[in-house]
Amino acid sequence: MLPLPATLAQALASIARRFHARGWALGTGGNFSAVISARPLRLAITASSLDKRMLRPTQVLQVDDHGTIMGSRRGTPSAETLLHLEIVRRRGAGAVLHTHSVWSTILSDVHAERGGFDMEGYEMLKALHGVTTHEHRERVPIVENDQDIPRLAKRLGAALDREPRAHAILLRRHGMYAWGETLAEAERHVETLEFLFEVIGRTATARATEADHGIAQDS
Ligand SMILES: [Zn+2]
Repeated sequence: MLPLPATLAQALASIARRFHARGWALGTGGNFSAVISARPLRLAITASSLDKRMLRPTQVLQVDDHGTIMGSRRGTPSAETLLHLEIVRRRGAGAVLHTHSVWSTILSDVHAERGGFDMEGYEMLKALHGVTTHEHRERVPIVENDQDIPRLAKRLGAALDREPRAHAILLRRHGMYAWGETLAEAERHVETLEFLFEVIGRTATARATEADHGIAQDS
């Protein structure tokens, strides 16, 4: 068994508390992981059903490539561990962060019928790995939510393959999965995407209000 580095557990616990403070992981929502070792695949992941407001480093667990808990720490790994493993395998990610924010929940529902939405023309897109211009078009795929996690992991994997350039994926009426080569990059991606989701959501509302106002003035 590999040791779970204390610094990694501390970093994941402090991300959980920060994301709770920003409203992206309220209650027990959200879960966070980082790769300890690629071969054999070992993941550090937050334990299931914990209030993220006070998550401690001792509540970060180690799992193997099947999501089975390793080591001496007791606890249940996040119910969504298989989704983290799917992203790590298909994207070669070093860290996977899952949020339950208001804006990702709204957009994941509004655009679900189209299977996703595009974001284009925003300067903040440049904070995503590999993006060098605001002219970039970022496709955000959406998959239906499911309590059958192995089935949901397959659906998520298929969406990742369909959109090989995507930096994140939404689960309908549930939240976002984002990732990065490192924990710092994954956190930057979450911050950037949550900003963009709020901009997209508020812009749509502002435009709808303006259109209503126009109709009212015309009539
Ligand atoms: Zn979730």
